[in-house]
Amino acid sequence: MARDLKTTAAPWVPEAHKLPLLREAAPSCRGCDLYQHATQVVFGEGPSDAKVVMVGEQPGDEEDRKGHPFVGPAGRLLSRAMHDASLDREKVYVTNAVKHFKFLERGKRRIHAKPSGMEISACKPWLEAELDAIEPELIVCLGATAAQSLMGGTFRITAQRGKFFPHPWAKQIVATIHPSAILRMPERYDEEYALFVKDLELIAAHLRELERAS
Ligand code: SF4
Repeated sequence: MARDLKTTAAPWVPEAHKLPLLREAAPSCRGCDLYQHATQVVFGEGPSDAKVVMVGEQPGDEEDRKGHPFVGPAGRLLSRAMHDASLDREKVYVTNAVKHFKFLERGKRRIHAKPSGMEISACKPWLEAELDAIEPELIVCLGATAAQSLMGGTFRITAQRGKFFPHPWAKQIVATIHPSAILRMPERYDEEYALFVKDLELIAAHLRELERAS
């Protein structure tokens, strides 16, 4: 019970929600046990005035080694899909619901392990502080972990993918699949990639509408 009470990043999150301060403080976080085996914290990156924040699940193996989000295979797929959907990645802030890599060791390989509800909840103060600092027009959840972190445990990508909802941390929030899910379906890659690009095109169009209305 005592461990549960301590499982939160809140004591390590600076009161002033400024991105440089948050980024500087994040490596010292001991809000859950994931820092113990990861190489380093992987904080969000992108412009502080980004209109769109994309939230993934957690850093992957390559992100953990390099210290940057979405630079591995899923990140490269995301960049290509954004380009195909005419969404400028340079203008988007990208981050994860959980800031340390969780994995299982299989010989020399490190296999992605899904973060638990407790770890997602523990790390949420960092995500909320990033969103508070940026005040985006639109939050895009990539995958169920990000969606459930920001929209509750009952949210289902299969039922609510591509639907826009109001949200306390942005004008709207929407969810689609995580690009790593497409990489795990080689037999349906073309079909799933096309659906992903279509989601991103809808997001680009919706963003234009939000900007026109503001
Ligand atoms: S995963 Fe999040 S809460 Fe856990 S130690 Fe890392 S930054 Fe802190």
